[in-house]
Amino acid sequence: MFLPAWVEVDLEVLRGNFRRIFQDKPRGVAVLSVVKDRGYGHGAIAVAREAVRAGVCYLAVATVGEALELRDAGLEAPILVFGERNEQEIDTCLRHRLTVFVNDLRTLGEVRKAVRRIGTRAKVHVEVDTGLSRYGVRWTDALEVIREVASCPEVELEGVMSHFAQSDELDKSFALEQLRRFQSVLDAMGREGIRVRYRHMCNSGGFLDLPQAHFDLVRLGILPLGVYPSQVCRRIEGIRPVMSVRARIAALRDLEPGDVVGYGMHYRAASHRRIAIVPIGYADGFPRVRNRGHMLVRGKKAPIVGGNAMDATMIDVTEIEGVSRWDVVTILGRDGEEEITAHEIASWRGTVSYDILAGWGPRLARVYLDAQGPDTQVLC
Ligand SMILES: *Cc1c(COP(=O)(O)O)cnc(C)c1O
Repeated sequence: MFLPAWVEVDLEVLRGNFRRIFQDKPRGVAVLSVVKDRGYGHGAIAVAREAVRAGVCYLAVATVGEALELRDAGLEAPILVFGERNEQEIDTCLRHRLTVFVNDLRTLGEVRKAVRRIGTRAKVHVEVDTGLSRYGVRWTDALEVIREVASCPEVELEGVMSHFAQSDELDKSFALEQLRRFQSVLDAMGREGIRVRYRHMCNSGGFLDLPQAHFDLVRLGILPLGVYPSQVCRRIEGIRPVMSVRARIAALRDLEPGDVVGYGMHYRAASHRRIAIVPIGYADGFPRVRNRGHMLVRGKKAPIVGGNAMDATMIDVTEIEGVSRWDVVTILGRDGEEEITAHEIASWRGTVSYDILAGWGPRLARVYLDAQGPDTQVLC
């Protein structure tokens, strides 16, 4: 089928990234793969399969629905569901062996009741809020909850974790304060003889820059996808972006001096220009821009002209030799020597790279490239 625009996911690159992360990490540290929000737009099942093959011991998502999709796809690995669970979700979690958080005594009571109803023991983690002020029990109150959970026969307290408010910037002072708070909880647990299999605190930024916070397990979302959480964190040699976004030029137009381009007439040609119409717009997750940013055609940068539409963006190809209709345009990723990164596109929209990766719309087909696979698969 002809695809006007698509998201390309290179599974061989994903595999290589996991390999490099496993070579880089200290021996005793286990890896959990975070595949929430459709694996940050790469496909949760595809990323989870590669993660499991690479040797991760855990998967994580943000909703029970996301976890069930992984179970339906045949993924048997332990799955941690981030966030809080409503009473109505707990039975489903137990039936599908999903690990849930218990951060207060009321939830503990609900989980205990569900365990008695269903007859399988629950695996739970406790989240300690050390300063993000999101989920979890405040570090000053954590020991009481941990003690109750640990002494409860219906549940297995498998993990105690926390989450950084900022781990990937140069200033690590708040991260180190959070680490001290978390450590104080772990020390208090130690004094009472409470042991857990997984103590965990690091996301990708923490994994790269805070080895003293690795503990037993690190939770990696963006790094295996080949995108660094920030511009200043440590780099691992050979990590490359897994996702590219491409389209085909749908039309070419020659502008006379004085012609305007796009809604709002934000561009006026000062001379004869040749522009290409790219069938991708802000409905597809590309930022809504005006005379800002560029795309790649035949290995060269073509600046965006005018304001883009829901379904189309205009680029100036005057300076590029031999451009034809249906030529491939690179919106995210590499073409020859040039590359457009998620960080760059994020700066055009005033957001972060996570938002760009996960933000591509469902209208774009997902194309999986797999050098080891039988063929290039196209999943729409
Ligand atoms: C999303 C998330 C992660 C993964 O973060 P990355 O920066 O993508 O590695 C880890 N832990 C928690 C609790 C998360 O919500």
